[in-house]
Amino acid sequence: MASKSHTVVIGAGVIGLQTALLLLQAGHSVTVVATHFPGDVDPALVYTSPKAGAHWRSQSTDPFVHKADKETYLAWLSLVRSKGASETGLALTPSYYFWEEEGAAETVNNFRGLWWKDYVLDFRVLPKQELPEGVSHGVAYTTFAINPTQYMRYLLRECQQLGVETVRRKVASLGEAATLGEDVVAVVNCTGISARELVGDENVYPIKGQTVLVRGESKTNRFVKTKSGWQDAVLRRPGEGTILGVSKDKDDWSNNIDQNLTKMILERCKRLAPELLVDGKFDVVRPQIGRRPARKGGIRIEIERLDVGGKDLIVCHHYGHGGTG
Ligand SMILES: Cc1cc2nc3c(=O)[nH]c(=O)nc-3n(C[C@H](O)[C@H](O)[C@H](O)COP(=O)(O)OP(=O)(O)OC[C@H]3O[C@@H](n4cnc5c(N)ncnc54)[C@H](O)[C@@H]3O)c2cc1C
Repeated sequence: MASKSHTVVIGAGVIGLQTALLLLQAGHSVTVVATHFPGDVDPALVYTSPKAGAHWRSQSTDPFVHKADKETYLAWLSLVRSKGASETGLALTPSYYFWEEEGAAETVNNFRGLWWKDYVLDFRVLPKQELPEGVSHGVAYTTFAINPTQYMRYLLRECQQLGVETVRRKVASLGEAATLGEDVVAVVNCTGISARELVGDENVYPIKGQTVLVRGESKTNRFVKTKSGWQDAVLRRPGEGTILGVSKDKDDWSNNIDQNLTKMILERCKRLAPELLVDGKFDVVRPQIGRRPARKGGIRIEIERLDVGGKDLIVCHHYGHGGTG
């Protein structure tokens, strides 16, 4: 396909790589510039995607995001059916979602809050006899468990097959990104939490999340929303093990692992994943933390024009995905 234009995507997280792939598939020539690429270790916590749980479950109240989430679910269904889990890092997985509280917001009016229930596979409301002790409601459905690094590697391979150029560099401005080729007409800003620094968007804030990776791959995902709002989570991590968790601390920029929280997660998840216990304990690989790149006002997908040294540049912002990237 003839190249339509040269676009620079800043960021090689799940958002940057997915954006780059869609642009390449539409026939554009693309350069991805990023400080971090799939497989990198990131003690500074500016590369969130590898730290995601991760699974698909739509949690937004925004109709635009509902549409995007539905498209993602359906697109992944055909992707997994054609390419399989080991190539993509996406695995269709039976999932259970339980609530301790009677009348929890999502569950009223026949689970109307779970607006996605009509198109996910195998959705059903669990009868009382299938509920674990201490919960009042529960549903089952099939969704994707995601190994984020494997999925990003898949995206990068697909981009490479379509001729993407990659540059490892921290850019100080959108204009600097535009200098990565004489013919660059557009820059897409997929910098996650670092958008706060790159474009001075003070609406961007972190929601710190701590999880624990353990050995043994759970066959299902399981979540319990407790009365206090905490969520116990057991998430299959295809090809790697199981993620247990998970905390959500708004505006917490700290980058330390809380040992007490690790202990609490391991203790609380025993009842949800007893099949992974070895002599009564989980076989821990490591605790991990990440910053969900949230934004007051929601995801920023916005186009603006920038004058860079007399040249008209199209800039598209694409960041602020928070807990659902
Ligand atoms: C504990 C936890 C659990 C989660 N669970 C889920 C889940 O189950 N499902 C789900 O959908 N989401 C989940 N998320 C959220 C998800 O991880 C994020 O929404 C998503 O990873 C954001 O991706 P991103 O590409 O925007 O940002 P990032 O992955 O942070 O990527 C940012 C990229 O920009 C680059 N960059 C930044 N600034 C510059 C610069 N100036 N110059 C060059 N490069 C730059 C970085 O190097 C990096 O490549 C979870 C997050 C956490 C922390």
